[in-house]
Amino acid sequence: MRLPAFTYLAPRRLEEAVRLLGEHGPEAMVVAGGTDLYPNMKRRQFEPKVLVGLRGIRDLAGIFGSAREGLRIGAGATLTRVSEQREVATHYPALARAAGVVSTPQLRNMGTLGGNICVDTRCNYYNQSYEWRKSIGFCMKKDGDICLVAPGSSRCWAVSSSDTAPVLWSLGAEVTLVGPGGERRIPIQALYQDDGIQYLGKAPDEIVTEIRLPPVDGWRATYWKLRRRGSFDFPVLGVAAAVRLEGDVCRDARVVLGAVASLPRETREVARVLVGERLTPEVIARAADVAAKPSKPLDNTDMVYHYRKRMTRVYVTRALRELAGLPIEGVWPSGMTAREIEEQRGP
Ligand SMILES: Cc1cc2nc3c(=O)[nH]c(=O)nc-3n(C[C@H](O)[C@H](O)[C@H](O)COP(=O)(O)OP(=O)(O)OC[C@H]3O[C@@H](n4cnc5c(N)ncnc54)[C@H](O)[C@@H]3O)c2cc1C
Ligand code: SF4
Repeated sequence: MRLPAFTYLAPRRLEEAVRLLGEHGPEAMVVAGGTDLYPNMKRRQFEPKVLVGLRGIRDLAGIFGSAREGLRIGAGATLTRVSEQREVATHYPALARAAGVVSTPQLRNMGTLGGNICVDTRCNYYNQSYEWRKSIGFCMKKDGDICLVAPGSSRCWAVSSSDTAPVLWSLGAEVTLVGPGGERRIPIQALYQDDGIQYLGKAPDEIVTEIRLPPVDGWRATYWKLRRRGSFDFPVLGVAAAVRLEGDVCRDARVVLGAVASLPRETREVARVLVGERLTPEVIARAADVAAKPSKPLDNTDMVYHYRKRMTRVYVTRALRELAGLPIEGVWPSGMTAREIEEQRGP
């Protein structure tokens, strides 16, 4: 598969990038590492005539601040940098882990945090070559007009597949956007919409410039990822869990699921189960029941969907047990046990 022809513009300053995006309107897209955008262009899922490259804008790549005052991570920081930077790795290990399990080392060296939180939603009927999609008559996300997963549906159910988005959500991150109207800062929740096509709640001409993490302030967080292989693959389930403990009593909690819907999914009820309690195996089991409820995957990613739904509860349990310092037995580095690997292969 070859890239189609396009014009590449390489601004050195953010204001120039915003101006260029405005000048070229819907014909233009921004590109950071290009690890998602270029494959999508090869499959003709995106057909921009102009790309505005962000790699030459040095101001976008820094990481500033501390666990005490909060961290500011430039949208252009690579995933490798995010996973290895000392302040992130020491005080926000869940983010370091999520960034460190995206795809492969090569893609993490090119891929950026900004690109990761804006990454396109995915579906088995969409992430295919142009010819493959044409042979089944296309679908409404690109070139067609029905949904092939849910033919009666008027919307697209493609899946939010970012590893870092659920973690950033669980940590209470904010996102800075710069566009023709100036700068604005929004909670990361507001960056997402429950629609597989219009999955971002920002204007197309707004650039993500920075991701802000609040001070650690007693929060402890983790990320568990389910995928077929221990490397390379997108998540088919991501569980980000964060708790704030005083002694051994939970004072606040957030559990956010990735890859179960067109946006990351949080259940606020989890906090009701956990707050004021010690994180015992029984309390964790109850919280996992509640947290897994909004997991309603469809049959449009890898692995059978009822298995992915069933694994939500298992992964929430593991994440919370890890945060509570309880043992988690028989887990492979990929996050799957030998038995689970057998089970998902089916009869
Ligand atoms: C084989 C393979 C495996 C992968 N596995 C994973 C995985 O396991 N987990 C995962 O999360 N991702 C995975 N990815 C997707 C991708 O590599 C990562 O999400 C990566 O972080 C994307 O960042 P990027 O800088 O390369 O984004 P790009 O490809 O440059 O851009 C992605 C999208 O974000 C937009 N964008 C980029 N930067 C900005 C910005 N600053 N402001 C506004 N919009 C912006 C682009 O316009 C584009 O729509 C995989 C990709 C491949 C090819
Ligand atoms: S969910 Fe439906 S419309 Fe969306 S990409 Fe998949 S098949 Fe296409």
